[in-house]
Amino acid sequence: MLSINISIEQKIEFSECEKAGVEVFVKRDDKIHPFISGNKWRKLKYNYQTYLKSGLRGIVTFGGAFSNHIIATAAFCAENKIPCIGIIRGEQPKDLNHVLILAKLWGMKLNFISREAYKDKTELSKAWQQKGYFVIPEGGENAEGVRGCSEIITELTRNYDHIICASGTGCTFAGLVQGVSNLAMPAICHSIPVLKQGGFIHEKVLEYFPTANIYKIHTEYHFGGYAKTTPELWAFLQSFARETGILTDPVYTAKMFYALGDLIKLGEFKRGQSVLAIHTGGLTGLLSEKMLRNVQKE
Ligand SMILES: *Cc1c(COP(=O)(O)O)cnc(C)c1O
Repeated sequence: MLSINISIEQKIEFSECEKAGVEVFVKRDDKIHPFISGNKWRKLKYNYQTYLKSGLRGIVTFGGAFSNHIIATAAFCAENKIPCIGIIRGEQPKDLNHVLILAKLWGMKLNFISREAYKDKTELSKAWQQKGYFVIPEGGENAEGVRGCSEIITELTRNYDHIICASGTGCTFAGLVQGVSNLAMPAICHSIPVLKQGGFIHEKVLEYFPTANIYKIHTEYHFGGYAKTTPELWAFLQSFARETGILTDPVYTAKMFYALGDLIKLGEFKRGQSVLAIHTGGLTGLLSEKMLRNVQKE
């Protein structure tokens, strides 16, 4: 099995939390692995065990051309000697971007399909299953993924008043809620959806965990939608890097830390309370020439 680094809890200080007297800690899941980062490693963990038991011939998964899950799966499968195929949304571009080049480097076979065909993933999944492949859904979102993410909580070394993470599919958040409930921790979980209309995260939590009770979803921090950014978000990403030394990505974790600062200002997190932010990784979302050009503009 893969060798990975332990994800530590680290106390950080940045302007918003210092002023308000709120203690902020970061669970550094971004340090787990340079490419199988953060929650993507946790989601793959139990899917991999199920795959091993299945005796199937390889792994098939889905993602967009900039998907952190695609990179993670490609690197994971290479380290574990598993044949893998990535079904990529959209026509094959003339030049592959850095995400797809890396995936190819690790030996993932890229299978581009039209956006139209990509929509019907249930049909696609069935077809690949019939060919003898183990199919992991887009973003690694399934019950095994939730189980892996719930271990973020079992690893914690202390209690927190609040726990916060960025949400795409809501899988990681469902795992956090599950972990907190299983351990009967008093912490309140907060989700920051990075897509517009993030209210669906609510259904996601209940799908995996019908008895979930106390959690909050803050749907106002999508900055225009998935992978959309604003100058304000870039300015925050930069000041946060300078103040804490921690890099975030504009798609997920910068939006989450921005929301964390704003929720402190709004009084959601109170003086004397502790907040744990999950750094879910995904730095390849920042480290491309196109993205980094936004930094130079500032
Ligand atoms: C994929 C990803 C997420 C979203 O996780 P979900 O479980 O789909 O909500 C959050 N942060 C980063 C860095 C990611 O790569």
